[in-house]
Amino acid sequence: MGRIVVLGSLNTDLVASVRHLPRPGETVLADSLHTFPGGKGGNQAAAAARLGGVVRMVGRVGTDTFGEGLLTSLEKDGVDTSGVARDARAPTGTALILVDPRGENVIAVSPGANATLGQDEVERAIQSVDSGGLLVLQLEIPATVVRQAIEDARKRRIRVLLNAAPVREFDPAVIAGLDILVANEPETSALVGRPVTDVGSASDAARALHDRGVGLAVITLGAAGSVFCENGEAERVEPFQVVAVDSTGAGDAFVGALAVALTGGVELRLALRYANAAGATAASRAGAQSSLPRRADLEQLVGVKWP
Ligand code: ADP
Repeated sequence: MGRIVVLGSLNTDLVASVRHLPRPGETVLADSLHTFPGGKGGNQAAAAARLGGVVRMVGRVGTDTFGEGLLTSLEKDGVDTSGVARDARAPTGTALILVDPRGENVIAVSPGANATLGQDEVERAIQSVDSGGLLVLQLEIPATVVRQAIEDARKRRIRVLLNAAPVREFDPAVIAGLDILVANEPETSALVGRPVTDVGSASDAARALHDRGVGLAVITLGAAGSVFCENGEAERVEPFQVVAVDSTGAGDAFVGALAVALTGGVELRLALRYANAAGATAASRAGAQSSLPRRADLEQLVGVKWP
């Protein structure tokens, strides 16, 4: 049983640093190659566990060494990985990332085993959410699985947090009745069908999503913090000032922190303040999973003491 159950993607990120991004047909030599654990599901599970959450991951990896590495890394962070299946027919999800010295990148994602998630995973996830728990979903797994998980959770009165990432075509019917929706600016723009670029337009969007049946709509705004709407009025949650180094992982840290705070009974405004602090801390450090904070990091880097 886990208070926070993440049903989502697990990827190995292969990051090669190159002097310039190759043109079609060109071969370039990479200065370095690094392997990182990734995937929004795995990142958010790690984020929640590092902040003290009791977390179970449900997903699929291949029977290859990449899958093994991802499980080991999650276990090191204290995530229960017994809900992750090993798929003998599909490789572990992998992202091939080339980065140039200016930080520009090209990425190809092979979903691999993430694309074979199905009803078994939905059942494993739903059955392991205990009372007062939370099911956390993103959009890096098949849309049918996300929809089914939301429907089954609703029937069992299990609270669901959907992080609408990455941007993707989305069945609007899924939104109505959702407990918690977290989306950044481009994701929110796609959801509401108009540009969301600042506090004003995000506040309008949060209200619109709440009107469409989302219990708590949260829009993250990078360095501008976040806004939320849970009762018809939108409110801003002020950002923390940090020197941004690499915003990769900020959204995942935000979601993980929000999940831990809300399942821990923290009041909503304070929970969102912790989430902003976690996002800001992740943005102030390089890497994705490696930048996800622990409680002590929040205190040290942005002066937030988690009770
Ligand atoms: P995503 O990574 O999904 O695009 P955001 O960039 O909106 O998400 O970041 C998530 C949260 O992290 C924001 O709501 C904010 O609280 C925090 N954050 C991100 N970047 C910064 C930054 N440069 N300065 C302060 N806080 C940040």
